[in-house]
Amino acid sequence: MIPLRLAEVAAAVDGRLVAADPTAAVTGSVEFDSRKVGPGGLFVAFPGEQVDGHDYAEGAIRAGAVAVLGTRPVPAVPMVLVDDAQAALGRLARAVVDRLPGLTVIGLTGSSGKTSTKDLIAALTSRLGPTVAPPGSFNNELGHPYTALQAGPDTRYLVLEKGARGVGHIRYLCDVVPPQISVVLNVGVAHIGEFGSRETIALAKGELVAALPADGLAVLNADDGLVAAMATRTQARVIRYGEAAEADIRAVDVVLDERGRPSFTLVTPEGEAPVRLGLTGRHQVSNSLAAAAVARELGMPLTELAIALGEMGLVSTRRMDVFERIDSVTVIDDSYNANPASMEVALRALAGIGQRRRTVAVLGYMAELGSYEHDGHVEVGRLAAELGVDRLLVVGEAAAPIHEGATSVRDWGGESVQLTDQADAVEVLRGDLRPGDVVLVKGSRYRTWEVADALRVDAV
Ligand code: ATP
Ligand code: MG
Repeated sequence: MIPLRLAEVAAAVDGRLVAADPTAAVTGSVEFDSRKVGPGGLFVAFPGEQVDGHDYAEGAIRAGAVAVLGTRPVPAVPMVLVDDAQAALGRLARAVVDRLPGLTVIGLTGSSGKTSTKDLIAALTSRLGPTVAPPGSFNNELGHPYTALQAGPDTRYLVLEKGARGVGHIRYLCDVVPPQISVVLNVGVAHIGEFGSRETIALAKGELVAALPADGLAVLNADDGLVAAMATRTQARVIRYGEAAEADIRAVDVVLDERGRPSFTLVTPEGEAPVRLGLTGRHQVSNSLAAAAVARELGMPLTELAIALGEMGLVSTRRMDVFERIDSVTVIDDSYNANPASMEVALRALAGIGQRRRTVAVLGYMAELGSYEHDGHVEVGRLAAELGVDRLLVVGEAAAPIHEGATSVRDWGGESVQLTDQADAVEVLRGDLRPGDVVLVKGSRYRTWEVADALRVDAV
């Protein structure tokens, strides 16, 4: 962060200093986990349901914090008092970003692939200049300002993932940190339970585009109609990426190698270059194009872009992480999360890698689908069968409609087994795997990864 005096902090957050020296400067990081507070830092105390951050205020001061930002005074603790700590954190982030004119803020959203693409963009911009990006998802009203607060005078690029929980949410995040470049990946059915329809999801995600200044840039997926249509929501310049003929940044001649890694020709207005990705899954073509569009805009030459994309390996764990076992079984660990769209890309990757091999899909429950929950699971099961997956292991009662969907497909040569839990799945796999098998493990958190971890024990 940039150093700020407490008087400046109080002014930025519309707070009141109590028992604090207005000239004392915050020179360390802003934290809401008191264990992370260090000398010169600022501790933000949230009034939680389980634990109240104010109980850790004294400890934070002992650890070196200059003051505590909170909603009620704590005796003998220098405080910045506010009505709403979350709003204050956002306003502080805004104040910091506004003091950094050399910073380019890149915001991205989408139903799937935000973190993967954020990591790709950050890897590319890091080659151009100092970059701040959150380590994981960090895409809500806390993680977002928290990340922005890490930006300092040397930072050139700030890459922020923006998750939408409802209409107005991204607009709020864009008020906290306004983007100059907005990237929208896709509109799927993730969180459809909260939104009701894909159109409403598009409305919410489009807020990222609507927030752009006139001299900003929208990077939109030409292959997703609802995303492409967001061009009408801004006066800013628009760059479209995708495989569609009308895209400005295109991938043509996409092929996957035997491990599911795509190669393609990157076509830009400046010319073409061959790209061979180190990442697994066809969906990474789209994510890479989005990242390429951003890096190109920021001045990366096409040849460097093609090389840089090729050098990127796995960026985040449990996302299409492919490993081999000593028994010649290939495992695709995509157990970080799941929704119908990401289930589809993962199942297609499994089918692609396993073209001439036996394929096993270990699938768990997909959360947050609301009224689409039952049908969403049925569709995934049906797709698995239609893609010719040989063996389907459905983990947990909540995921049972996957089993239902698969077994409803007539002429499917494969078999679906309903299992009680992860331990059950590991047990069945142990007795069942044969050399040459390809196994996909995927579910919405809910510890599906325990299955992948059990398989990883014998990784080579
Ligand atoms: P979250 O909302 O949980 O933060 P996210 O949008 O950040 O998710 P990632 O974590 O990047 O998404 O990816 C989650 C999964 O979505 C991946 O494991 C992959 O299977 C799938 N995925 C990634 N990119 C795409 C894409 N462009 N289209 C469809 N599915 C994708
Ligand atoms: Mg994410």
